Amino acid sequence: LVEFKGVTKRFGDTCVMDEMDLQMREDDRLVIIGPSGSGKSTLLRVLMGLEPIDKGEIHFDSKPYVSVDSKGRTQTDLATRSKVGMVFQHYTLFPHLSVLGNMTLSPVKVHGMGRSEAEDRAREYLGRLGMEDKLNSYPGKLSGGQKQRVAIARALMLEPKLMLFDEVTSALDPEMVAEIEKVMLDLAKQKMAMMIVTHDMYFAKKIATESVFIAGGKVVEKCDPEIMFNEPKEERTKDFLNKVL
Ligand code: ATP
Ligand code: MG
Repeated sequence: LVEFKGVTKRFGDTCVMDEMDLQMREDDRLVIIGPSGSGKSTLLRVLMGLEPIDKGEIHFDSKPYVSVDSKGRTQTDLATRSKVGMVFQHYTLFPHLSVLGNMTLSPVKVHGMGRSEAEDRAREYLGRLGMEDKLNSYPGKLSGGQKQRVAIARALMLEPKLMLFDEVTSALDPEMVAEIEKVMLDLAKQKMAMMIVTHDMYFAKKIATESVFIAGGKVVEKCDPEIMFNEPKEERTKDFLNKVL
């Protein structure tokens, strides 16, 4: 489904992705682990089309998606970009818009969806996540877990083929973590392709079909999560997992 080919990404002198190659199959749930600052968030943001790259290309569904032109500018295929949804660690809802307003804004304003279709769809997704009664609430009145559920429902509005989750539970109280993890496990049952960055290694083991350890701008190890978490091959992976498990 996704293929990074020699992707390089720098912030000034810091090379966060160093000619990185990475593949993800259709229907995979790929958990990305790595030390703080190893570029996990950057990788997801690049794939979401939120960060330009310096070199290389990304294919999506076997078609060019992100590339760099002869002048060094990043080109992103916008139709493909709408097939990718992302949820972040910190709630990114607009505080001045209701839940319904948050969910319909981009589909209506950016993607030209009819308002009534967008509202019907918003109701359906909120219903699936048990949040129908919060349609007219404002984010300030919601709990952290409820805000994250709205953020997930909002990301599903354009029917993405791939969902990206960047530490979506790490700002939540423990009892809300389980609630959001359940939503993600339900999406997994529906065969949603996902890339997941998490510090929760137990959840990672539970949801992943594939796992990758990144460090120093490269993929150090990519394998079945059973192997990654029980008998990793690379020393750097072992060191990291010994610290966090
Ligand atoms: P964490 O586990 O702490 O979330 P991470 O693996 O997600 O870390 P990134 O946030 O992707 O790491 O950051 C990778 C590197 O790029 C870090 O050194 C960071 O300081 C740098 N970086 C990230 N975003 C920017 C930016 N907008 N401008 C400059 N440097 C940045
Ligand atoms: Mg991060």
